[in-house]
Amino acid sequence: MLPKRHKVYVGQVAIGDDAPVVVQSMTNTDTADIDSTVKQVIELADAGSEIIRITVNNEESAAAVEEIRRRLDEAGYDVPLVGDFHYNGHSLLEKYPACAQGLAKYRINPGNVGFGKKRDDQFARMIECAIKYDKPVRIGVNWGSLDQALLAKMLDENAQSSNPKELEEVQKEALIQSALLSAKQAEDIGLAADKIILSCKVSDVQMLVDVYQSLAKASGYALHLGLTEAGMGIKGMVASTAALSLLLQQGIGDTIRVSITPEPGSPRTKEVQVAQEILQSMGLRSFTPQVTACPGCGRTTSTVFQELAQEIEQFIQRSMPAWREEYEGVEAMKIAVMGCIVNGPGESKHANIGISLPGTGEAPAAPVFVDGQKVATLRGDGIAKEFQEMVMDYIKTHYTPLSSSCGMRSISTGSTGK
Ligand code: SF4
Repeated sequence: MLPKRHKVYVGQVAIGDDAPVVVQSMTNTDTADIDSTVKQVIELADAGSEIIRITVNNEESAAAVEEIRRRLDEAGYDVPLVGDFHYNGHSLLEKYPACAQGLAKYRINPGNVGFGKKRDDQFARMIECAIKYDKPVRIGVNWGSLDQALLAKMLDENAQSSNPKELEEVQKEALIQSALLSAKQAEDIGLAADKIILSCKVSDVQMLVDVYQSLAKASGYALHLGLTEAGMGIKGMVASTAALSLLLQQGIGDTIRVSITPEPGSPRTKEVQVAQEILQSMGLRSFTPQVTACPGCGRTTSTVFQELAQEIEQFIQRSMPAWREEYEGVEAMKIAVMGCIVNGPGESKHANIGISLPGTGEAPAAPVFVDGQKVATLRGDGIAKEFQEMVMDYIKTHYTPLSSSCGMRSISTGSTGK
């Protein structure tokens, strides 16, 4: 049994305890470039990122935070911004109070706070800023920037032990200890436990699972999950999905970030989409109607059903921003687009609305099922358009317009919650 997690508020967004797992992301613009940063934050927020981290690495970036926050508020985006600090965070937070105030959380990497005697002092100054401005912090340990003094001390102790552990084991323990000791230090300075989030990111899936299982057992701090340097394209997406799913299935992880390297020309928002897909596929959250489409096989030699599945997906993606504002709960809808009679009718019956297209040699008719009942059979060239109209009718008749529910929305969970 794992300890109950503290609930931490990052701006208006709750993380931990019974709150749904939160999706977050990070910009890759120069924060001092206010136009580009605001534009990308808006893109990430529109894609569904609920918290967005920006790097605050120099005076220009720290000075830009106030204007970035102002422009976002003016544009109607209240998405919380997190400042990512390394080496000089203490002085930037002290020198730029509007930055310290405008950020909703500070990310502190215990391995990059400072060296020698300065380390504790600089760490304390960042924590004091967090207390002064009533902000939570993420103590974010990273395999690539592990606290070298702590690691050296633990390696010495291990070398003198009668039963020394493998190097990797000591490194893993050092990661966990770096997070836990820093969290204790922050609490000793006066930061409450419900203002602390921990992360221990590594780039190896099995090691990440090991580390987080230990971290989750060892404390009740809210946990930020992510596989660091996951890589590019399919490799990055699969590695992140594997790592995060294994942990989320065990109830470990209160907020996630997917750190994929964008392929040239691909949008930054991909990481948000992958994070949402992980949570939705696991039944933990619902973000957009799910389209169940079969892979196709020798029974369907034409590309008709692939084209229809793609058209439906694109129709949903285009329409979802408006639907989300108009219809309560529409993101939980399930749509099936199937290739032939083998699994088509069955899968379509399990969806809210589904269509089973004719396979090779089958009669040229596409039965449509609504809530398990066959309601129509579509024929001819207009199947895609007619089916989209039926999807639209289903939404209008099955989901409450938000205008009649006082416009109240909440972060939606899937059937299993967290
Ligand atoms: S539903 Fe039909 S077309 Fe689709 S994969 Fe199954 S057998 Fe093949």
